Amino acid sequence: MSDLRLSGKVAMVVGAGQTPGRTIGNGRATAILFAREGARVVAVDRDLDAAQATVDQIGAEGGEAFAVQADVTSETDITAMIAACVDRWNRLDILHNNAGISIAGGDAPISEIDAAAFDRVTAVNLQSMVISCKHALAVMRRQGSGAIVNISSLAAVINYPFVAYRTSKAGVITMTQHIAITNARYGIRANVILPGLIDTPMAIENRVGRGGATREEVIAERNSHVPLGNKMGTGWDVARAALFLASEEASFITGATLTVDGGQSLVTG
Ligand code: NAP
Repeated sequence: MSDLRLSGKVAMVVGAGQTPGRTIGNGRATAILFAREGARVVAVDRDLDAAQATVDQIGAEGGEAFAVQADVTSETDITAMIAACVDRWNRLDILHNNAGISIAGGDAPISEIDAAAFDRVTAVNLQSMVISCKHALAVMRRQGSGAIVNISSLAAVINYPFVAYRTSKAGVITMTQHIAITNARYGIRANVILPGLIDTPMAIENRVGRGGATREEVIAERNSHVPLGNKMGTGWDVARAALFLASEEASFITGATLTVDGGQSLVTG
């Protein structure tokens, strides 16, 4: 008997590549950690090379994974990514939805947002998860088991300046609760993570240069908001929370919202 926490499981991580940068993204860290814990991993990203880099890292550690290119704003691509997983391994135990954008999608404050940017950000952050869950659930219902972990954001519940990111990430919470209650009878769990300030390339690289800010200033400003250690979290912090929710250790947990923020949400002053 293996004591690995995801032994025998097939996991799909959507958004398993990452924006280039100096640190590890939430999706790549999650894919690697799932594989370390015994899961076979499908690494999905719109950038095949980025997904393949994750797969290569898993392979170098002795794990099993393959990469699939998919733009998750396309239902055709989503159908194909689920089919690729079932064709290869004949099941899908864990769906981890990590793809998300904000500033890169043209997000803006309510006074400046335009319809196209709102649609773009919402399509990547919310619609993609609705449609990927729809297709994954068809497989999981046939199995009579499955675990879904969706990545929202603390931005959904605090004073975040950009409207499309905040509202789409809030939608992810409600959508996950909806899936949890409508699929409990099939033995399927669905939970949502709210990361706070995490030191990932998407968070840092997109902000460097905005308003003349240097990388060091961006990092210092974000660190200053975190009560626990005055330091942002890392992709590994989010990955460990996802591992718990995806594993049998969370077998009685569904519809839960797990905040991973170093205490930031406790600061009211
Ligand atoms: P990341 O490393 O850049 O990961 C996001 C991945 O999703 C990237 O590989 C990205 O590809 C991919 N992606 C974007 N649009 C896609 C699409 N249409 N189809 C398929 N893949 C797509 O970013 P991260 O910082 O780890 O963030 C991951 C998740 O955590 C996001 O949902 C984000 O909102 C959430 N989050 C992050 C923070 C934080 O502080 N970092 C805080 C709260 C929540 P490209 O590089 O090509 O865009």
